Amino acid sequence: MKEHIVVVGASHAGVAFLDAMRTHGFTGDLTIIDRLPDWPMERPPLSKAFLYDDSTPETYFLRKPEWYKQNNITMRKGQEVTAIDRAGQNVTLHSGEVISYDKLVLATGARARMLPDASGLAGVHVVRDPLDALAIKDAVARSETARSKSARSESAGSKSAKAIVIGGGYIGLETTASLRKMGLSVAVIEAADRLLARVASPQISQFFADLHKAQDVQLHIGAQIASIDQKDGAFSGVTLGDGSVLEAEMLIVGIGVTPDMTLPEMAGIDGGNGVAVDLNMQTSDAAIYAIGDGALCAVSAPMVGDMPIRVESVHNAQDSAARAAAAINGHAPPEWQAPWFWSEQYDARLQSAGIVPPQGDDVTAIIRPGKREGGFSCWSFAGDVLHSIEAVRDPAGYMLGKKCLDSGRTPTAAQVNDPDFDIKTFLAG
Ligand code: FAD
Repeated sequence: MKEHIVVVGASHAGVAFLDAMRTHGFTGDLTIIDRLPDWPMERPPLSKAFLYDDSTPETYFLRKPEWYKQNNITMRKGQEVTAIDRAGQNVTLHSGEVISYDKLVLATGARARMLPDASGLAGVHVVRDPLDALAIKDAVARSETARSKSARSESAGSKSAKAIVIGGGYIGLETTASLRKMGLSVAVIEAADRLLARVASPQISQFFADLHKAQDVQLHIGAQIASIDQKDGAFSGVTLGDGSVLEAEMLIVGIGVTPDMTLPEMAGIDGGNGVAVDLNMQTSDAAIYAIGDGALCAVSAPMVGDMPIRVESVHNAQDSAARAAAAINGHAPPEWQAPWFWSEQYDARLQSAGIVPPQGDDVTAIIRPGKREGGFSCWSFAGDVLHSIEAVRDPAGYMLGKKCLDSGRTPTAAQVNDPDFDIKTFLAG
């Protein structure tokens, strides 16, 4: 009998797992199940180019549909897994169908958080999966049509549509940049005292605040929300704690994600803010693995310490998938790399590696100018330890910083601060 591996969740992690299994010669049966109706699509473009250009989902499919056939993978689209029977080693679909497994891989990712007061109102969106992005594209197109009709009938110039983005994290800011490119006027509301407060150094926060201001985005930083306003069941604006009223037709809620824990919790698999896994991505049940955004992994690394962490990035999805495949298939796992990701807003590309340390007395951030105009890198140390490198328009600076983090050979803060200190020579030595 061939071994049957079932993967729940067909996105970056689930598809990378299948790829790694077949690449390393696994000849057993592979089934992947996702509640979404279409072929799996990349997620990063959903807040970037896919929102504002006229590309179709096919442009961003993770793999061409024929790839699944060529690799003898059974794809079950539009199917929700509603239960795991650990003793019987099977999963149940919403249709009632039962599928047996020898190994189960949970690649169930995370869901976008919603503000309770905004939930269910027309005009309110999140940006997590392709259907969310299509809904935003559609809403913008409909509002443009309505405006050009009313401008014709009133023979007056049409004002641009207005959007409010709640949450100044990467997804909220990327969506802001895309909406600006689509011609909407946008206001961003952020409760913390700076943009990207949880994930970026203050210097990078300032860079992106300036970038958005230069694009006429209204930034409300350190702002409290008094109410989400509505008219006839549709979103109409936000009243801030200071009494000011912002009117808009569209609200994007970008306040982070929570791991999709429904299935593991029902099945009694250990976890909390994610499914608890070891370095092989194995859960408390030896036949079940968890990978990607939903996995809570105890990585031990200088910039992380020993605390289990949940990382939300394409690199982590692929790396954790490769680790699970290696453990199941018996081949060597990938070499450890510092976590990395990127962001694109307007003409600025940020590349970041490591984990930005929480601000404190012992944290030093050093800026090094890049080779390209307007490019720079920001090196964050906690004490003597390099924790992260964030580079804007500076791929060369990013590569050097990432090599330092990956190899553990890091220059001191004073050396990084010295413009004449050659990090490339240091790494080669
Ligand atoms: P997910 O992508 O969340 O996929 C999980 C899948 O599981 C979903 O398709 C869901 O439908 C399915 N599922 C869950 N439960 C069930 C069930 N019970 N039954 C059936 N199916 C189920 N990362 C970067 O590194 N750089 C970027 O620039 C970047 N930009 C991003 C922009 C956006 C708009 C978003 C949303 C994410 C971005 N990310 C970026 C993060 C990156 O996309 C995620 O880290 C990655 O998608 C995680 O992959 P995953 O497979 O773990 O989970």
